[in-house]
Amino acid sequence: RHIERRRLIGEPAVTRDGVAIELQANLELPEDVATARALGASGIGLYRTEFLYMNREDLPDEEEHLAVYTSVIRGLDGIPITIRTLDLGADKQGSAASRAPPTGNPALGLRAIRLCLKEPAIFRPQLRAILRASAVGPVRLMLPMITSMHEVETILFMIAQTKDELQRDGLAFDPEIPIGGMIEIPAAALTAAAIAKRLDFLSIGTNDLIQYTLAIDRLDDAVSYLYDPAHPAVLTLIRQVIDIGNKGLTSVSMCGEMAGDPRFTRLLLGLGLRTFSMQPGSLLEIKEIVRDSDTRRLAEQATELFDRIEDTDPRALIEQMNH
Ligand code: PEP
Ligand code: MG
Repeated sequence: RHIERRRLIGEPAVTRDGVAIELQANLELPEDVATARALGASGIGLYRTEFLYMNREDLPDEEEHLAVYTSVIRGLDGIPITIRTLDLGADKQGSAASRAPPTGNPALGLRAIRLCLKEPAIFRPQLRAILRASAVGPVRLMLPMITSMHEVETILFMIAQTKDELQRDGLAFDPEIPIGGMIEIPAAALTAAAIAKRLDFLSIGTNDLIQYTLAIDRLDDAVSYLYDPAHPAVLTLIRQVIDIGNKGLTSVSMCGEMAGDPRFTRLLLGLGLRTFSMQPGSLLEIKEIVRDSDTRRLAEQATELFDRIEDTDPRALIEQMNH
């Protein structure tokens, strides 16, 4: 089956009713660029940058960031990349995070954007480098773990300041670089319409969204059986965020594991999601489903599912969509 799917590499990701779908890859290490390209990714929807901070005592400086990003962008040959600012803390520990005082619950602690706002010395070199990388190719900047408008405004102010600095230093960048945020905390999902007004795009991070919605530690094996992407509360939040994209308020994608999970592709298409970013290894399987789907029919089925979501287990209805 795997070998059979390889013939899909050059085929377009278009549904039976002619809707074009973006199938993008998540990148964890620069080496994965080749795999993503070979499997026909139309872009990199999530470039995780935590690896730059792992297994070392010091912090990467601006030039090191820039060198890594430049080489990845060159390897992508013109397809767009979304670089996520560092998401250290909780499940992703590194030298920079370990300087922060330990807290009782790292998943609810000084993580990701919170750490960046608190420690500009860690964040600024990366921010400058991502902006400078936007002069090399099509780059978007994405902020992880957004919780509130206040955070968004603070970061946007910092980005504006940093652009001024670069200009003064005579360093090139794309002044129109799109700035987006991950929706992976229930508070952000519930207020995503307001957040969308200030950002160029949103990307749903289902790994954390499920963890925080269901109060299930994503690293704790003892409760992993309760980690359920099809929980009605999770689906309701996801639908709400996708709807913001349907209304044209901003563009919405998904880059959590759910985007590459074949059980949910039809449901997500039915809800209106048009951009999926996943581990490269899932691209062809998802493309196969996309090419076999009719978005109009799926939209009707998704509406029916949500009409009944309060009194049925959505899993059975999702199953039906897959047949
Ligand atoms: C997510 O939370 O869904 C996500 C894509 O980010 P990460 O897995 O890196 O936390
Ligand atoms: Mg996350």
